Amino acid sequence: MDSLRLPRPELEDLVPYEAKDVKVDVSLAANEHPSNLPGEIVEKLAKRLNEFEFNRYPDPTAGKLRGLIAEANGLEPENVLVGNGGDELIFDILLSWGGPGRAVLDAPPTFAMYAIDAQVTGTKLVRIPRGPRFEVDGEAVLSRLAEGDIDVVMLANPNNPTGNLIPETLLIDILNATDALVLIDEAYFEFSRHTMRPHMSRHPNLAILRTFSKAFSLAGLRVGYLLAHEDVVRELTKVRQPYSVDSFAQWVAATVFHERVVFHESIGDIMRGRDRLSHGLSAMEGVEVFPSEANFVLFRVEHASALWRDLLHGHSVLVRQFSRTPGLEDCLRVTVGSEEENERFLAAMRDVLSRRRASAILGGSVQESKETVGELGY
Ligand code: PMP
Repeated sequence: MDSLRLPRPELEDLVPYEAKDVKVDVSLAANEHPSNLPGEIVEKLAKRLNEFEFNRYPDPTAGKLRGLIAEANGLEPENVLVGNGGDELIFDILLSWGGPGRAVLDAPPTFAMYAIDAQVTGTKLVRIPRGPRFEVDGEAVLSRLAEGDIDVVMLANPNNPTGNLIPETLLIDILNATDALVLIDEAYFEFSRHTMRPHMSRHPNLAILRTFSKAFSLAGLRVGYLLAHEDVVRELTKVRQPYSVDSFAQWVAATVFHERVVFHESIGDIMRGRDRLSHGLSAMEGVEVFPSEANFVLFRVEHASALWRDLLHGHSVLVRQFSRTPGLEDCLRVTVGSEEENERFLAAMRDVLSRRRASAILGGSVQESKETVGELGY
């Protein structure tokens, strides 16, 4: 035949994730750690590289890493599931607890993968929008949960891209109000230092997601993990790809986790950098900065897409733009970089804004950018 049968119609309006490879001097668009792995860890790995068994399949349970994570969190290995990035675990949750005839609740604007994975798995998405300061509308969430048809709740804490935390009392109210699987996504836990871990013993429906991609400099390796009741882990093990976390990633992540005190200093630097960015941006006329507990800062500025373009083309600084995301009109998100990157970003912002003011005095108008590349990436 010379034709192709159509795929699932419900995927028709999904846009494929094709991150364009933009080469820039200062890349602050993906909430990555600004530094590569510390040299001492790389040296340790390099010394043992020739013993590494590339020819063998990985341990499907990531036993060594799982054990280390369980121990650090005061849990049993059966309460830990390691995944190919946090992304895989979000997807697995919707494969197990979502699917046709089932519903997931989220609170936009939030991490885009919840909605994308809902669509891919045929799960109904129930969206309870956040308020003007991106606070979760607790009353609306609780009354929606009371209807009894929600199977999964996904809440990022702190939220990406807004950076704010949900009050712990509200999270407890949510856990008390439902038997749905409640995923508290703590991808930025090492920066916020807030966790729902102490509530796990009372709530078998609480699952916590963490990642090695942010504080531990391993975004390129794809390792995340879930802390959850053993029944949850067992269910997810049914749907996950058995070898999704390769043995190299398991080995490096286990070494990194074992040596994690080494990261304290850079995490502190990132938190200081965040304050520097927030203060620097707040001092600029026309820029509204939202408080952040993560390794990025969200801000609102008039004609954000034009500003995003001028930062990129005029200064080789890439940030993430959300101008087309409902609730985030005219918002940009900058990841905390190295001290030098943060200063370059702030200087570029000052330059673009002062040129804009000068051109306004001469009667010029700002042309919005139609480019979409800045919308891609995490
Ligand atoms: N959750 C949130 C809130 C995130 O921002 C991210 C990454 N940006 C993830 C999960 C997934 O991270 P990864 O797949 O790199 O572990």
